[in-house]
Amino acid sequence: MRSRLARATLCIAALAVAVCVGTAAAATFTPGSPGLGDPMFPNAGNGGYDVQSYNLTLDYTPSTNQLSGKSVITATATQALSSFDLDLRGFAISRLLVNGRAAAFTRDGGQELTVTPKSGLQSGTRFVVTIDYAGTPAVVTDPDESIEGWIPTEDGAFVVNEPQGSPAWYPCNDNPRDKATFDFAITVPDGLTALANGVLVSNASSAGKTTWVWKESDPMATYLATATLGRFDLTISKVGNIPSYVAVDPQLAKGQVLDKLPEAVQFYSSIYGPYPFNAVGAIVDSAKFVGYSLETQTKPNFPAVPDEATLVHELSHSWFGDSVTLTEWPDIWLHEGFATWSEWIWSEHEGNKTAAQRFKQLYDSHPASDTVFWGPAPARFTDPALLFNGTVYDRGGMTLEALREKIGDPTFFRLIRDWATQNRYGNVATQQFIALAERESGRDLTAFFDAWLFEDAKPTTW
Ligand SMILES: [Zn+2]
Repeated sequence: MRSRLARATLCIAALAVAVCVGTAAAATFTPGSPGLGDPMFPNAGNGGYDVQSYNLTLDYTPSTNQLSGKSVITATATQALSSFDLDLRGFAISRLLVNGRAAAFTRDGGQELTVTPKSGLQSGTRFVVTIDYAGTPAVVTDPDESIEGWIPTEDGAFVVNEPQGSPAWYPCNDNPRDKATFDFAITVPDGLTALANGVLVSNASSAGKTTWVWKESDPMATYLATATLGRFDLTISKVGNIPSYVAVDPQLAKGQVLDKLPEAVQFYSSIYGPYPFNAVGAIVDSAKFVGYSLETQTKPNFPAVPDEATLVHELSHSWFGDSVTLTEWPDIWLHEGFATWSEWIWSEHEGNKTAAQRFKQLYDSHPASDTVFWGPAPARFTDPALLFNGTVYDRGGMTLEALREKIGDPTFFRLIRDWATQNRYGNVATQQFIALAERESGRDLTAFFDAWLFEDAKPTTW
């Protein structure tokens, strides 16, 4: 064993010298990885670069469900790259440039688009990718059988992406840890409204088509982008100093619930810290078949007129999900548990049931034998079919209310405000929340979080 090992070491040493002496510069460029190794979606996102901005120019014809797009992506190499991947499903690519020069590319039939520039990209340098593409955008079916991506409706499309719908309509580094700014110019037939994240810059009509220009200048994860379009009544107003855009499909009876939006934003600002973005709003479409709402940044998408709990749930995600975002998908309770608890504290604020009453109701009505309600524990599973399992909502929310009772209101409210403030626009993990809770309370909370987040059984002592 000893001699064989020694010989192998020599060979490696000799090889290293040869590589070093022979081709010093060329050998340093390597391909970026095709995924980032997320436990649920290992191929989502790509290695070797970091995106700063997406500039998307889209033109959509609802009658034929054809989308043509031009995407200009500005990124910085984080390693010396011989090639790199983007995520894009379907479409024919008519032109692909890196720094203005035609680049070779291959597709794998799934979402990997591998780009090989004419020359390698040095680590630390900024580069620009331009992609012209066209075709029928995809509807993606998730492991839990929900649909997302570019979903055609009667008069346009409902566009939501959590967790993996974005590559169905634009090329991207589809991982929540690579946030970027976004510019959108979306062209639709006159009479339709195209909605996207951030503030409305302009809308102008020419030759029977209207181009809607939106700008999201705050960092945004790719799955939070939207381009929902169709017939909408768009109301532009202000909440505090920021513009508010509320778009409602004219087929729907709007009701009163959306009038609560300013008050909900102001209430959450008072407990979680200032609203994180420079626009607010809501998109209410007629697309019930989609079956869920989504906290698309600055403008949550609703497939029907929401009830009050759904409205405030999605708005609270502005702080927990959109601004403070998970690093890996198995930490989704950091979004959904917080948004569920946000529903409860809103109810308490409105003089209805308190969060403690909501907690007790759930705790008392689900015996330990109800393993569907209690398991698997919210921070313990990596099966993507369970991403939106009930436990990340109910047990996630109960975890926070139990923590509130354990450490007391002053410490608890300081903790969640600090969590939102210190991690603004960032990416987080469960262990960071536990560490902050222990620091702020001055207590060892290992047993508490084990019982609530990691053990499948109904917590009995904590
Ligand atoms: Zn949610």
